Amino acid sequence: MTENADLFLKQIAVGPMANFVYLIGSKRTRECLIVDPAWDTDAIVAVAEEDDMNVVGALVTHYHPDHVGGGMGGFDVPSGVSDLLARGNAKIHVNKHEAEGLKLVTKISDGDMVQHDAGDVVEIGDVKITLLHTPGHTPGSQCFLVHDHLVAGDTLFVNGCGRVDLPGSEPDQMYDSLQTLGKLEDHVRLYPGHHYGGAPSSTMGEQKRTNSHLKASSLEQWRAMMG
Ligand SMILES: [Zn+2]
Repeated sequence: MTENADLFLKQIAVGPMANFVYLIGSKRTRECLIVDPAWDTDAIVAVAEEDDMNVVGALVTHYHPDHVGGGMGGFDVPSGVSDLLARGNAKIHVNKHEAEGLKLVTKISDGDMVQHDAGDVVEIGDVKITLLHTPGHTPGSQCFLVHDHLVAGDTLFVNGCGRVDLPGSEPDQMYDSLQTLGKLEDHVRLYPGHHYGGAPSSTMGEQKRTNSHLKASSLEQWRAMMG
């Protein structure tokens, strides 16, 4: 893949849990999608509008409240996808394995969602967003490959990976998902779902050298690493 002149991509830090939200859109059509609107949807939309971008929906990496708003198990996040829907026409793009969880956490309805299969492509202007199903952190976790950029949610962090000890987590699936991401070309830039110290982004080449979670060479080694 090559760089795309139409691509608009912006990283925004939000909330008390060091979340990263992203705007992915088209410079030509001035439309964008918010990756994981949470904590303060109005402020995220305002950032888009400052850049003369019109928000038309959201891409959901996974259903945890710090990424989509709502509540789960006594953990409540004040704002998220439901606020985006309340503002008017918007579609919420989610992996089909994550749809039930998303509804439970955010109380949105089936009609608000576009449920996706692995490998689906969402187009906005001349920008193509490929949805990579990367289960492990949650059953329907997905990453977004946007030309030379990987928006990775809680699957891959800069020198880390998402937790696999939560309800719905599956450590062996995370191994497979990381193996898949490890095949991406070195120049692809990684944009994680949280800023857990260090650089806010990296390249896959650098991560293959420095991220121990990408370096496990067998499932047995991975299981030992993850305890
Ligand atoms: Zn999460």
